[in-house]
Amino acid sequence: MADELQNIIDPYLQRTRVLYVEDEDVIRDSIARFLKRRIKDLYLASNGKEGLETFKQERPDIVITDIRMPVMDGIEMSSAIKSINEDTPIIVTSAFNDEEYFLKAIELGVEKYIKKPVNNADLVNILVKVARAVSHQKEIEAKNEFIRTILDNNPTFIMITDIDEINFLNSSFLSFLGYETLDEFLGKGKNLNRFVVAKEDSFYKGKSFNVWIKEAISGGKTDYIVYMAGKDQLKSEARAYLIHANPIPELQSRKRYLVTFTDISFIECDRKMFQDLATKDALTNIYNRKKFEDELYKEIERALRYNNYLSLIIFDIDHFKAVNDTYGHQAGDYVLKEITKLVTENIRKLDVFARYGGEEFVILTPETNVAGAKELAEKLREKIQDYEYKNVGKVTCSFGVSEYVRQEDPAGFIKKADYALYIAKNKGRNRVKAVEKEHSFFFNLPY
Ligand code: GH3
Ligand code: MG
Ligand code: MG
Repeated sequence: MADELQNIIDPYLQRTRVLYVEDEDVIRDSIARFLKRRIKDLYLASNGKEGLETFKQERPDIVITDIRMPVMDGIEMSSAIKSINEDTPIIVTSAFNDEEYFLKAIELGVEKYIKKPVNNADLVNILVKVARAVSHQKEIEAKNEFIRTILDNNPTFIMITDIDEINFLNSSFLSFLGYETLDEFLGKGKNLNRFVVAKEDSFYKGKSFNVWIKEAISGGKTDYIVYMAGKDQLKSEARAYLIHANPIPELQSRKRYLVTFTDISFIECDRKMFQDLATKDALTNIYNRKKFEDELYKEIERALRYNNYLSLIIFDIDHFKAVNDTYGHQAGDYVLKEITKLVTENIRKLDVFARYGGEEFVILTPETNVAGAKELAEKLREKIQDYEYKNVGKVTCSFGVSEYVRQEDPAGFIKKADYALYIAKNKGRNRVKAVEKEHSFFFNLPY
């Protein structure tokens, strides 16, 4: 039996580091000799005080200790060890007359007891069991640490939440918010709202953190973007973060979610730039012809649905070629920009103003009939005529106005205004002409 035992090699035991505390030299030496061959490291001590010192230095996985010892007994030492690391398994060896200590050991949560004199077979069996438990615990901790490392080192902000509370924020997120630990963040009664910056159409505007995070988690919209300014950042420096949420598969009944906040400010910036490039005229920074046409379709649809008026003004600079020829192309560009400014200042927000071609502009005026549009055109004509263009002097424009009629196609609508402009030019320029509604018919004939 004893020989068989000598040959048992347990892989868990082989990885285990043990502290053995025993005041009787003979017993200690004998058991030490037996244990040494089966475990990774063995540390020996001859009383509680020594044992505690060794524990502090070596941090063994398991402690085996006698109870009655000089200087410091096994109970006192165990209590000190448990207060350093509650999870350290302690195996107590006890004689029959140790009953009163025995109860204290139970109170302390000591894992196992072995009767003295210690039987090697019992000792190995118990050690193997405890070593396995220790090993599993270590594996779980290592896995947790592994996951934590992945989360913490991710530059994306990561949060784990059950909606009511924030359970985790990764290091990147915490340092952005200016905190070392989650407890520190929560301890100050903080939630994310202090760092959130609402834009006019933000989905979280005016909502408490729990409400908007729940909304983002439940989904429904294509994307949830939140603007946040971190510690020491001004509100104006807030960046755009795209929120993604996924439920975490867990044993707990309360559902928790992994919520990521990805910085998409660069993309947002590019998107805006491309949008501008595609829809705006580079010289005047107002809409281009393509954007105008898109808006024209939308406005016609809206006018039809709500039975609203919709009018169009086309205007063209008079003798602009002469401006270029006399003062140079740059002066011409300047005039284009000045006129754009004058018009922008004198139309409504709802009006769609675009550069239609070289020195030709259009204004789409929703909820305005032909009389109203004529009035606006007249006002603009005067503003442009009265303005003093640096180094150029006076410049005028001619205007054509039309009102949309049902059944008309967009091209017919434009053709009418264009025709009115042609008349304005022919009649001597610097004037406003309109095609009245009842004449619309002529412009919508099929060719
Ligand atoms: P009208 O009164 O009949 O409109 O005469 P006009 O000279 O204004 O008309 P025309 O169509 O003969 O000439 C338009 C000129 O506008 C010619 C073109 O070089 C100039 N032009 C078009 N786009 C620009 C631009 O972006 N900058 C400058 N400086 N000139 C431009
Ligand atoms: Mg012209
Ligand atoms: Mg022209």
